[in-house]
Amino acid sequence: AKAEGRNNFQYYTPDLDLVSKRRLELGNSLHRALNLGEFEVYYQPQLSVSDNVVVGFEALIRWNHPEKGLIAPDEFIPLLEEIGLIAPVGRWIAHSCFMQLREWIDAKLVSEDAVMSVNVSPRQFRDSQFLQSVKNSMVSARLSGKNVTIEITETALLQDNLEVKATLEAFHEANIGIALDDFGTGYASLSHLKKYPISVIKIDRSFIKDLPYDEEDIAITDSVLALAEAFKLKVVAEGVDSDEILECLKERDCHTYQGYLFSKPLAAKDIPDKIKQ
Ligand code: C2E
Ligand code: CA
Ligand code: CA
Ligand code: CA
Repeated sequence: AKAEGRNNFQYYTPDLDLVSKRRLELGNSLHRALNLGEFEVYYQPQLSVSDNVVVGFEALIRWNHPEKGLIAPDEFIPLLEEIGLIAPVGRWIAHSCFMQLREWIDAKLVSEDAVMSVNVSPRQFRDSQFLQSVKNSMVSARLSGKNVTIEITETALLQDNLEVKATLEAFHEANIGIALDDFGTGYASLSHLKKYPISVIKIDRSFIKDLPYDEEDIAITDSVLALAEAFKLKVVAEGVDSDEILECLKERDCHTYQGYLFSKPLAAKDIPDKIKQ
């Protein structure tokens, strides 16, 4: 770098140092976050479209940073994956949200059949202990397979290998639900439905947000529902933030929804009031 004029030397090299220094700092603070308990699971209720009963929750992680406040997952999940910390954090998330669901079931806030949905990133599939740790946490929380769903994106399935398939089959054998997240935004979705033991399709928010006005989105929603019926899958609509959208889904017999209309993701302590209101 230093042969090519002083601009390159002066700016390029120091910038690189700065970038890797920042990474290192952020990496260190993520380790610290895990050890000091700065991660917190938030919960977004999922409701049945037909009678508006809370049937489960999606667990969504947050980082309570001591100086920066609450940080959204998009800002640190990729980094957790990169530095190899997603596996221990993922196991911690699953354990925490299962124990939480048990507490809410025991408090009769939700039924015995309530479902906790956990996001699982592609990297976690390579964590050989993941399935076993999920099973152990389910035992600790006295939950059965019907109480648990893992949410995966098509990116996880694109690494089309036998390992992914075997892992999904093992979850399926444990009666754990498998939801295909952000459905329709990736590609080859249909072959995924055929190849893997998917039990739930989550229609991406981008197709939901303009209902009932966007005719193409209506067509997409109708096709997903028809597909789901043929494959005997449940459909969850995400990002439902108005009565009109919910009404539109009701007319179409969509099963489950989540979104700001009922509730944003909330800290566990705020869930009981939200449900009893
Ligand atoms: P996702 O799985 O698609 O989660 C849905 C996102 O939509 C959440 O953002 C949620 O807060 C947001 N959302 C829900 N309802 C509405 C609505 O009505 N309107 C709008 N505008 N947004 C809504 P969040 O919590 O920031 O999570 C972002 C992404 O980060 C998630 O997308 C997921 O891919 C990832 N993520 C979150 N928690 C975890 C985790 O525990 N593990 C892993 N591996 N990934 C996670
Ligand atoms: Ca999700
Ligand atoms: Ca999603
Ligand atoms: Ca997403």
